[in-house]
Amino acid sequence: MSATVLDGNKIAREIRAEVAAEVKTMSAAGVRPGLAVVLVGHNPASEVYVRGKVRACEEVGIYSEKHTPARSASTEDLMQVIAELNRRDEIDGILVQLPLPSQVESKKILLAVDPAKDVDGFHPMNVGLLSTQRPGLVPCTPAGIMEILRRSRIPIAGQEAVVVGRSDIVGKPIAMLLLNANATVTVGHSKTRDLSQVCRRADILVAAIGRAGMITRDYLKRGATVIDVGMNQVADRAEFERLFAGNAKREEIFRTKGSTLVGDVHPEVAELAGAITPVPGGVGPLTIAMLMANTVRAAKMRRGVPELSRA
Ligand code: NAP
Repeated sequence: MSATVLDGNKIAREIRAEVAAEVKTMSAAGVRPGLAVVLVGHNPASEVYVRGKVRACEEVGIYSEKHTPARSASTEDLMQVIAELNRRDEIDGILVQLPLPSQVESKKILLAVDPAKDVDGFHPMNVGLLSTQRPGLVPCTPAGIMEILRRSRIPIAGQEAVVVGRSDIVGKPIAMLLLNANATVTVGHSKTRDLSQVCRRADILVAAIGRAGMITRDYLKRGATVIDVGMNQVADRAEFERLFAGNAKREEIFRTKGSTLVGDVHPEVAELAGAITPVPGGVGPLTIAMLMANTVRAAKMRRGVPELSRA
């Protein structure tokens, strides 16, 4: 039997609709949430992401503005941009699109963002608030994963959760969120011994690795819920065959585009899992939806307005 597909597009649409309704109410009361995105230089991938974020803001009614310092900007130049955005009351969220050019001290810039406006949830203050279970701003992708689990009624408390990957952006915060939701959490990484055996313990397996199709059926307990965070472009024919041999739809994409998007989970896992997020259309759409939700959350927290609890 194949797994239930956890439709990230559908869940993201629900969240965006809720956010749009909240923005409408707030705007009617004279507070329109605002997001400032800082994009340094001309990284084509970053430009695409930022365009998506600005468009999503427009759709839900959030005010947005884009700041585009030159590729040659210094740490000092960017500190000034951040200081000005921190000061302006109509800006609730500040997002610095990464990566920054090599001459810029990225950590210094991220530390300079007012934690109350840190809609990416990367500031050490927000990391600390999350780990001590206090209200704060939670990184978007992990927050989105929790929405998928909760809205799909996947039990979390008391379950064995294994997270593969320990980045500050995904692995660590999702491990903390699952722990806060009373799962028994193990975090695997590149130095973990016998990773497949560790993963086979999981009722909930989160793969945030950045290795195309690494998680095969050998890593899975039958019936587990699998959250595939990975986004990898496969352009190599042999690798494509390992993952998608016999899949006519993917073959068509691969032939026309020369590559196809694949997660960290091998497609064969869908035959064994209880539920699984697809790639594309799983975790990805939640990341921008949660950025919108975080901007509204920041606007409310800064003004002491009580929040709707999500899901
Ligand atoms: P990252 O910073 O590169 O971290 C990758 C993690 O995977 C590291 O902790 C690394 O272990 C671990 N790892 C790498 N190779 C491994 C192996 N062979 N066995 C076990 N663990 C291994 O990546 P990230 O930023 O967390 O992103 C992970 C993936 O999620 C990427 O594909 C990225 O594109 C995707 N992503 C998607 C979204 C979305 O919106 N859907 C958002 C963010 C990221 P060590 O720590 O030991 O090196």
